[in-house]
Amino acid sequence: MKKLTSLSATIMFVLALLIISSPKTNSQSLSDKQITDYKNVANQFVRKALEDRKGYFLLKELTDIGPRLSGSPNSIKAIHWAEKKMKELGFDKVWLQPVMVPHWERGNIEKAKIVSSKKINNRNLVVRALGGSIATDAKELQGKVISIKSFEELREKQELVKGKIVFYDRPLDQGLYSGGYGGVWNYRVFGADSAAKYGAIGVLLRSITTKYDNNPHTGVVFYADQVKRIPAVSVGYLDSDFLRQALKEEPNLEVNLKLNSKWFEDAPSYNVIGEITGSKYPDEVITVGGHIDSWDLGVGANDDGTGCIQSMEVLDLFKRLNIAPQRTIRCVLFINEENGSRGAEAYGNFADSSIQVTIAAMEADAGSGTPRDFSVDSDSLTIEKIKSWLPILAETGILEVAKGGSGADVGRIKSAKARIGYGPDGQRYFDYHHSDNDQFSIIHPREFELGSAAMATLVFMIDREGL
Ligand SMILES: [Zn+2]
Repeated sequence: MKKLTSLSATIMFVLALLIISSPKTNSQSLSDKQITDYKNVANQFVRKALEDRKGYFLLKELTDIGPRLSGSPNSIKAIHWAEKKMKELGFDKVWLQPVMVPHWERGNIEKAKIVSSKKINNRNLVVRALGGSIATDAKELQGKVISIKSFEELREKQELVKGKIVFYDRPLDQGLYSGGYGGVWNYRVFGADSAAKYGAIGVLLRSITTKYDNNPHTGVVFYADQVKRIPAVSVGYLDSDFLRQALKEEPNLEVNLKLNSKWFEDAPSYNVIGEITGSKYPDEVITVGGHIDSWDLGVGANDDGTGCIQSMEVLDLFKRLNIAPQRTIRCVLFINEENGSRGAEAYGNFADSSIQVTIAAMEADAGSGTPRDFSVDSDSLTIEKIKSWLPILAETGILEVAKGGSGADVGRIKSAKARIGYGPDGQRYFDYHHSDNDQFSIIHPREFELGSAAMATLVFMIDREGL
């Protein structure tokens, strides 16, 4: 009897432990009624966003300012526009966080032409300086061109590179579902540096794009301190095809390049921050944001005017539907994501040292396509909890919640319990990315607005259920 009592006590103890330690998933904690109620809220977000198109028209205003490269007068105009808008939308607190940013300008001369060729002398190539490229020395630069497909080939042919212009003829892999950016971006960032080590005098990069056109895509180029800096340009995809063919026929042709881009002293700038203060837990912060700077080609509608406005609209949707958040919902528009991440660094330091706790930080910087997924950087229990809300998120078009990276900006908030990346469909993303193609006209209002609704729904779930 005594033995039995002790056995049943042990069983009870083990059972109690199992109950305490078993992961509390939402399928257990949400009743059918709660799920129905939450789905109703999700549907209200969807209806409001789609019917009003308020964010879409705000994006029009932002992009009417023009491109917003860090350090430019336009970037400051956009920052003050956003600050004023957040105040007009009635956020509880709106402020600017000062941060010094790099300042580079492409100038007004970007010319490349094929010269010293028997057949095609003086044929222009459409080029755009890569972001941060130095100008051509004195007036122009001329040399023979060597076509290179990969860093391995560059190493193998290093003896032949000296004194030449390296043409990275490496099209993005169109056969990959994700668009193949992962296999080419490092040639834009590190291509000049790698070629300069072997004595190259300049770099032509086949434009990184999924579109078959001639608008070159820019993006940052990196120079190491110890290596000689050489000018680097992106060449239109069609003109890259032309150059490839021309080099096959005349390997000794020369290209003449002229750029007058320029570096300036670091410039004062700001992150734009606005919040609705939590009614119950004001010191628990849910951050949602995008980056207010853009490249200087196009108007940064997709990258990342979209993410900025969707983030602002998350807060505005709460207000439009008269939902008072229990936790503080904070919109952060980060400056300088494209060429330095100084805004992310400044905000990350601020958030990590604050007495307020960031329970979740969501980033929208993947374009304006139809909602697809949320990628969550957190512990497995937290990820499981967010996953269990999928039936509710699905009302906005979200198909998946998965473990993964968040984004370049919120990734810097190390103290956040969860860092989340909003993932819209990306099939057209690299048609526009960092190029003149990134215009307001390419934004589809329904796809864009569903993004605001999807983000608002996840923010709402975190606000009500915690993490
Ligand atoms: Zn971006």
